[in-house]
Amino acid sequence: MNNADTVIVDVDGTLAQFEPSEVHQWVLKKEKEWDPFFAHMSEAPVVEPIRALVRILKAQQQRIVICSGRPDSHRHHTLAWLDRHEIPYDGVYLRAQGDDAVDDEAVKQDLLAQIRADGFQPWLVIDDRDAVVERWRELGLTCLQCAPGSF
Ligand SMILES: [Mg+2]
Repeated sequence: MNNADTVIVDVDGTLAQFEPSEVHQWVLKKEKEWDPFFAHMSEAPVVEPIRALVRILKAQQQRIVICSGRPDSHRHHTLAWLDRHEIPYDGVYLRAQGDDAVDDEAVKQDLLAQIRADGFQPWLVIDDRDAVVERWRELGLTCLQCAPGSF
């Protein structure tokens, strides 16, 4: 692990309670409708065990990087939710403008390159979606899958 100091944490289904069937029509297809999605997810309860784990890691001098397929164009929604739930973070990496049709796992692969370019050295990821978990592992990272993710 050498100088690795960063844990990457997903949002939906990991830190935020998330029911794929409830948001499917907005975000689990190529055309995304972000406004109704954020209206719905702004009230999402926090997943307490994951928040607790993130706080423990932060207290141990780990850096916390939030990495989500949510769009950067709507960044304020995600920051507001994280802050409201008092979740510590050192960076927030979100889907780039124009990438709505790109699969989550490809979005996160691109974000990993940015995370590393910005000087973070990740050694662990917490995520929920099967395809994304598989990609993190292909990229050489240890990924803890925190919920069922076959959607
Ligand atoms: Mg997720």
